[in-house]
Amino acid sequence: MNSSETLVTVAASKPMWVDTHVHLNFDGLQENLDVIAHNWRQAGVVRLVHSCVEPSEFAAIRAIADRFPEISFAVGLHPLDADKWDAGSAQQILGLAESDQRVVAIGEMGLDFFKAENRDHQVKVFIAQLEIAQRLDIPVIIHCRDAAAEMAEIMRSFWQSQGAVKGVMHCWSGTPEETQWFLDLGLYVSFSGIVTFKSAVQVQESARMVPSDRILVETDCPFLSPVPKRGERPNQPAYVCYVAEQVAQLRQVALESLAIETTANACHLFKLPLPAIQPSVQVPQLL
Ligand SMILES: [Zn+2]
Ligand SMILES: [Zn+2]
Repeated sequence: MNSSETLVTVAASKPMWVDTHVHLNFDGLQENLDVIAHNWRQAGVVRLVHSCVEPSEFAAIRAIADRFPEISFAVGLHPLDADKWDAGSAQQILGLAESDQRVVAIGEMGLDFFKAENRDHQVKVFIAQLEIAQRLDIPVIIHCRDAAAEMAEIMRSFWQSQGAVKGVMHCWSGTPEETQWFLDLGLYVSFSGIVTFKSAVQVQESARMVPSDRILVETDCPFLSPVPKRGERPNQPAYVCYVAEQVAQLRQVALESLAIETTANACHLFKLPLPAIQPSVQVPQLL
């Protein structure tokens, strides 16, 4: 650059992303958040939705959101922690959700039948949280592992008897047939690093079939680093770009189009404010 040029910051034309599922309070990320945030901002991640596996995390998650204005968050109880549900849990989750305007969802909640011995209890806790979300009129973040048929059945009867709830099937790993069940229930479908794994043929097929107004992307960091970072720990929000690149390729759409669609979908589902951080690039401009 010579003296007749200067650096100016302009609104970037580079894609903007929403990472719709992160756990920044987990080890591997929470010690290093300034660097992790620098990385996601560089990568064009303009908003993040922080998940919650149990209500006791709420204060830590809120403290992280205090540091980074682009973070919204959820409150809920994960199915693998369902045994922690007690008589006061519903009221606790409801109260926490109402305590902060940055709470945009109930979750993560759902069914995880991989190795589970408490299926009936998981179902009870799942339904109780659907009721909270319905009462607050906010979406649910759903974790579903080895339980798609049971979950779809529970939802169909809940929708029929009590009305539909909005939400997202997060870290989706289902078959196209299963995907269609949840699309029919009005849900969004979010893809994680799993979609980049060579063996995940069914998931890739699912990523091709979700309508463009229902698709989301996420990292589920610190878990499930996408190819080409597979095996690297921790995963981080900046890597949502690798998930997106794979999804765009599968759908044969431009990365920019997928960014516009998924960001609009995330803002619509979670009622997110417009991006808090505009990605910016330093470009030389002639004076
Ligand atoms: Zn999950
Ligand atoms: Zn999660």
